[in-house]
Amino acid sequence: MPANLKLRPRMQRLLSPAILQAEIIGIIAWLGVLLIDPLMKFGLDKLMVTLGLLVVCQLHRTVTHFYLWRLLGVAYMVLLAVGFAYVLHTNFELQVFALPLALTLVLSSAVLFITPQDFLICAALVWWVMWPNIQIGIYADVEVYLFIFCLSSVSIGFILNFSYLKNLRSVLLVESEFRELAHTDHLTSLLNRRAFMESFAKLIAAGHTGYFMMLDIDSFKLKNDQFGHDVGDRILCAMAACLKSTRGSHSFGRIGGEEFGVLLVCDDPHTATDYALRLLHAIRCSVAPPHDYTCSAGMTRFTAGAELSAVLKCADRNLYESKRNGKDCVHLDGKPVRPRLPAAVE
Ligand code: GH3
Ligand code: MG
Ligand code: MG
Repeated sequence: MPANLKLRPRMQRLLSPAILQAEIIGIIAWLGVLLIDPLMKFGLDKLMVTLGLLVVCQLHRTVTHFYLWRLLGVAYMVLLAVGFAYVLHTNFELQVFALPLALTLVLSSAVLFITPQDFLICAALVWWVMWPNIQIGIYADVEVYLFIFCLSSVSIGFILNFSYLKNLRSVLLVESEFRELAHTDHLTSLLNRRAFMESFAKLIAAGHTGYFMMLDIDSFKLKNDQFGHDVGDRILCAMAACLKSTRGSHSFGRIGGEEFGVLLVCDDPHTATDYALRLLHAIRCSVAPPHDYTCSAGMTRFTAGAELSAVLKCADRNLYESKRNGKDCVHLDGKPVRPRLPAAVE
């Protein structure tokens, strides 16, 4: 997935509170304009604009769909501009404020949009709505300054929006790279111990039950001593590939030098032991001799709210049993796991 797409939800979440606050300020300003003048009638038209602003603001706060969320941002600004334009249109003496109002709306919206295109569309619409209320007569012979104001507000807003989004994106990109590095084992690209344990704790806290399997490569030190560390490293990567390709696990990670952990979310012990046997078989066949290797495993069941350290201890005891009973096997509840016999044919 391109980095820009990956960052979208985070940027949306980060911008949302500031956007909400700005929208509330807009609504307060709108109500202020209506209430400040005792002669101003609060008719159906103004009530509709007020309700529209409140509804759009509330929807903008709750909607998560990216395109709808963007559309609501533009809709809010346009509705606010339409509301103010209507007030100016019906109060001739207020029309001197049309120019500063248009400038304020355009410039203040610069930091509220997640793409420069949205800002440009919004700025164009705000100017389009406000322009008819500007008393061109006041600016006779110097109308060119109006265009300069208009162009300056759009260009300054564009530069503000563009550079602000660019900086935010690069900060988030660096942050997500560091986050990934902090959770990934550099050799195998699996989850590292910390990330794996975090995902385990989350699973237990969320009320899931299942099986935890602890795996340890057999006689790995000997492999390193016989063939060198680079071969050892390749074996670790082959082991990671087996974990990725064996279907049925919820998550897995490298929890030590040549130790790995696997989480299975299932209640059926046969599903769990079938997975374990398939994985050990895949490991056995993953590298051709003389670099072939095997793995021992210890399995244990975990339930919602279980103590993580107790689960690890229990799996470790079962792993020890596998090592003691000749390696290249898996133990569950102190007993070796054997392949199931096919159902007898009558
Ligand atoms: P057992 O069957 O009882 O598990 O024996 P073992 O030799 O696998 O266990 P031991 O704990 O004696 O040795 C583990 C070895 O794993 C020692 C260490 O050098 C090696 N090791 C740990 N991390 C790495 C690594 O990243 N790369 C390589 N090549 N070796 C590693
Ligand atoms: Mg070990
Ligand atoms: Mg070992």
